[in-house]
Amino acid sequence: MGYDTTTAAATAAARMALLEEFFLEQPINSRPGNSRRATATTPSAPVNLGTVDHIRRSVYDLEQHTRAAAPDAGPLPARPSAAYDWVMQHTEHAPETVQRRRDVLIYKQQLEHAIRLGETGVVRRHRCPGCGTVGLHWRAGSVRCRNRRCRTPDGLGSTWTLSQIATQYIADQEKRRRRAT
Ligand SMILES: [Zn+2]
Repeated sequence: MGYDTTTAAATAAARMALLEEFFLEQPINSRPGNSRRATATTPSAPVNLGTVDHIRRSVYDLEQHTRAAAPDAGPLPARPSAAYDWVMQHTEHAPETVQRRRDVLIYKQQLEHAIRLGETGVVRRHRCPGCGTVGLHWRAGSVRCRNRRCRTPDGLGSTWTLSQIATQYIADQEKRRRRAT
């Protein structure tokens, strides 16, 4: 099956919507005078703050990318999950390099959202940018290759960022698409 940017954007938006929900259900309530503060079941703030930061950073990156390509793009939608449609809309006719960067960004974000939602298995079906084998796993904040022979020059097991995984993935999809046409 070919790579479909719109589907990736929809996946990213759906996962972002889950994160929003998670955040709305567990609001940060440390503001003075907030009556919710007294509730005994208040979840720990670091989890919430992490998610808020994550959402903000994601939207910020989408906005930066889009405005660089389309300075006339209007205001961002209020809901973070709606930002993906906004990006797609304003980069639809952008040059190929811009669209490729957008695809990598969106793909990376949907991986990040999945991991934040606890679905760390999303990395498994990707190819290792180092040795090309499928057998990646998520550990201690990075993607690791299971191939014992896949090592850094220092002899350490290779680790990758989600950005590298997304870049590799989009490049693979592009090659596949070119072969198909
Ligand atoms: Zn590898």
